[in-house]
This record gives sequence, structure tokens and C-alpha cells, in this order.
Amino acid sequence: MALNLKDLKLVDSMYAYAKSRYVMALDCGTTSVRAIIVDEYGCIVAQASRPIKAMYPRPGWVEQDPTEIFASQIAVMMEVQFKSGIHSDSIAAIGITNQRETTVVWDRDSGQPIYNAIGWQCRRTTSRAERLIEDGHAETIRAKTGLMPDAYFSATKIAWILDNVSGARELAEAGQLMFGTIDTWLIYNLTDGMVFATDYTNASRTMLFNIHTLEWDDELLALMNIPRCMLPEVRWSSGEFGRVSGEIMTHMPLIMGVAGDQQASLFGHCCFEPGEAKNTYGTGCFMLMNTGDEVVDSKNGLVATVGIAEGGKVSYALEGSIFHAGSVIQWLRDKLRIISSAAETAEISKSRADNGGCYLVPAFSGLGAPWWDSGAGGLIYGLTSASDRATLVRAACESMAFQSYDVLRAMEADAGCTLDSLSVDGGASRNEFIMQFQADLLDIPVDQTEAIETTALGAAYLAGLAVGYWEDREEIRQNHDLARRFEPAMDEATRARELAGWHDAVARARSR
Ligand code: ADP
Repeated sequence: MALNLKDLKLVDSMYAYAKSRYVMALDCGTTSVRAIIVDEYGCIVAQASRPIKAMYPRPGWVEQDPTEIFASQIAVMMEVQFKSGIHSDSIAAIGITNQRETTVVWDRDSGQPIYNAIGWQCRRTTSRAERLIEDGHAETIRAKTGLMPDAYFSATKIAWILDNVSGARELAEAGQLMFGTIDTWLIYNLTDGMVFATDYTNASRTMLFNIHTLEWDDELLALMNIPRCMLPEVRWSSGEFGRVSGEIMTHMPLIMGVAGDQQASLFGHCCFEPGEAKNTYGTGCFMLMNTGDEVVDSKNGLVATVGIAEGGKVSYALEGSIFHAGSVIQWLRDKLRIISSAAETAEISKSRADNGGCYLVPAFSGLGAPWWDSGAGGLIYGLTSASDRATLVRAACESMAFQSYDVLRAMEADAGCTLDSLSVDGGASRNEFIMQFQADLLDIPVDQTEAIETTALGAAYLAGLAVGYWEDREEIRQNHDLARRFEPAMDEATRARELAGWHDAVARARSR
């Protein structure tokens, strides 16, 4: 039996123990913040998390308290050290990953936010984004940023704060205000105001960053009426972002890695090469495919973004999101009340040999990529008198795989390549029925990673690489263990019939 690098390291575990160095990763998400401590094998030795609140001041508006986010992040950093007995003298570096696009603006002197953080889900600037399209700016924005104008990205949120908070515009023009996504807000406060910076992946989600030149774009800043002096310096994802203040961590470890959550997940999945892709099955699904040094111009409603910015090289990615994935299972549980837990859906689905011709299209808020039909309505199609609870549960589970199939095929068409396998994570990826069905539909293996915290792990890897804790990407690949590989086992005729049934149902759900 051949030993791989990881086996050899395990033999050397006494040395590893004596070395006693770890990497800490901070994962600042939408609903919770987390701190994890990782050893050199990529194993999580300790973690702490706590929920953070969201506020909904009006329908469609989403805000969070930046102070609560930072305080909660420090609290979990403390907790994980106490829990594990691993303190800052044993931390080789810190990595940060974060919810993307969410916007904070604060005062340069006081460090106080002038408004709540406007969340990525917040739709208050929809009309501003639509005006950009009506005024003919969509093509310029897409060509420079890889994105299509939408309220989702930071630019219209910053403009809203400048236009709606009393005195904000004057202060911004006088150089008195600072803007940051959540990574920047954390870095600024963790370093006691010494470092005002973001990384290429987070910057690429603002709709102000030119992903070709890797610089803030003056034309877009002028279009959005945002002063350049508000913006942070943009750095590589793996490199120095300053030292954590001694008041927070005694030995002042360096922040050495920063990436947006989906990009950190791409890195944690080791999707280093063009054509490698990952899909996260959570409330929604987030798919990213590495497209190498090419910015792919999507014809199918996907966005191009900076995927990996490490080792002096940028790899771009295509990204597609599905709005309703695991949330459909929550809907079965909380609204239809036909299941008591998400965990039972795999067994219920498997109790049927097939879907009996029944399809559920969860267009609860229209259809996203690749259809982009905001008028589409959710439907359950193909019911018969034999249909029952298991029919609906199975159709709901299958809908995650069908929707992911459509986005992945769109990515392949855009990128002009075919996937060899798909790496998966997220809560619903633990459903073996869905994963097998996904492999069957795509006709490629689906790889379930052993590490559940792939996103935080990606941030840890970016930080560890920068300080030589891990030597190179190859060493990280050695740490990448699969929990399970699902091999495709569906014959071609069945696959074609299933896909035809799904697409027939989608056509009926669409508004045009
Ligand atoms: P998020 O990060 O978006 O909060 P998670 O990755 O924690 O999501 O996954 C939670 C989602 O996955 C929920 O919507 C839940 O309904 C769904 N889910 C969790 N476990 C399963 C399962 N075994 N089968 C199907 N769906 C599941």
C-alpha cells in the first residue's frame, strides 16, 4: 500500500504535537459567526459559533448591526481559545471568510457605523439597479465587473446610504467616511484601525471593481456617484492584512487570508484547476466553476467573478445561484407539515422506486439561473390519485438536483468544457438520495467532502499558505478527504425521460 503525504505526517504525529501550531479561521456568515482552529492535516480541532440577528425594517429590507457582528466575532474567537486551550501564541495565522456584498459605512475618526449594515438580501435599491439597466449601463457593468446590475451587489447599497443618511454625502466627499464589506469591517476593527483593506474576491462582488484590471473602476464610481476615497485597498486573498490588536489576542497573530464565502468554499474544495466545480446545498444552492485565467462571458444568466486570488495568480469563476433548494424541505416541514425533520427525507424518497411522473418546480420567488423569469410561479405537476406524501417529498428532493443540473449544464455551455466530477457540501448534501440522483442526472461522480466546514477551511488554507504553514496547494489536496463518492448508475433512457419530465414542468411554471 502506498503511503500518501498525510499518512507520513500521521506517522510523524509526535513531531506534529510538539510543533503545536494551528491556523484560526473566522467565518462571518449571515445567520451566525464562527471561529475554528485547524491543524496541519486540515482537521478542525475546535470551533465556536453564535447566531447573529437580522432586522427587517420594511418588507424586502434586510439590515444587521455591524457592532453586534464584530462583538460576536470576538466572542467566538475567545471561546474557541478557551475551549481548546490553544491560545494566540500557538496560532500561526488567521484567515477570514464572510457573507459577501453586505455593506457597512463608518466614520474615519470615530470608527462608528453611520448606518446599519445593509444585507446582501436587501431589495431596497431594486429600482436604482433597474434604472441602470434602463439607462443602458448593463453592458458596461457586465464587461467590467462580470456582474449584471442588481440590488444584490454593494454599489447601490453604498449609494443609498450616501443619499439617505443625513450629511453622509458631504462627509464622504470630504474623505471622512469608509466603506467596507464585512471582511473589511472585521479587519479594520481587529487591527485597531491600522488596516483598511479587502481582497479581490470580495471586491469583485461590489459592482465597482474591474475584474480584468483588478482595480476600482473610476467610470463605475462616477456612474454610482461614490467617492473613491471611501474604498479600501484591494489585496490578494493570501497575504498580509495586519496583526490582530494585542487587546484582542495577546500575541497579536497576523491575518493572512481573506475571501468571500463562496470563493473560500471553492478553495476549500480544492477546485484549483479550470473545469473544477463545487456546489453548496444549503437554503439555496451556490455553484462555482473555476474557469482559469479566462473571464467567461455568460450567455446563460450566470455571473463571472474572481474565484481564487492566491499565489500571484487570479483564477476566475462562473457563479450560479438557486434561490430555493433546502428551503423547499423547510417548506414541507413548516408549511405543509408532512415531515418532521429534513433528515427523514432521504428514506421517504427511497421508499418509492421512482417519482411517478410528479415534479415540483420551487419557483417561489420566480426562477433564477439559467431561466431568469421573475414572473414564474411554483408548481407541482403530474399528480395522480396514487400520489401521496412520499411523492411530494421525493419531488422536493429531486428539485434540488434538477435545478443544479440546469445551472451546471449552463456553466459547461458557457465555459466550453465538461465537468469530470462535482464536489459538494452544505446541509442538504448529507442527503444520500439527492446526491445519488444528482450523480445520475449529471452522469458524473458526485464527491461529498469529509469536512463540513469547507468554507472556513478554505480561509484557513489561504492564511496558512501565506505563512508557509502549508507548503503548496498539493499539500492541501492531500488533506482533502472524501466522505463518499456517488457514482452515476442511471441508464440513458431513464435520464432522458426524467429530464424531459422536469423541463416540461419548468415550461409550465414559466410566465413566458
Ligand atoms: P445555510 O448555510 O444556507 O443555512 P445549511 O448548509 O446549514 O444551510 O443547510 C440547511 C438547509 O439544508 C436547510 O434548508 C435544510 O432544509 C436543508 N437540509 C438539511 N439537511 C437535509 C437533508 N438531510 N435532506 C434535505 N435537506 C436538508
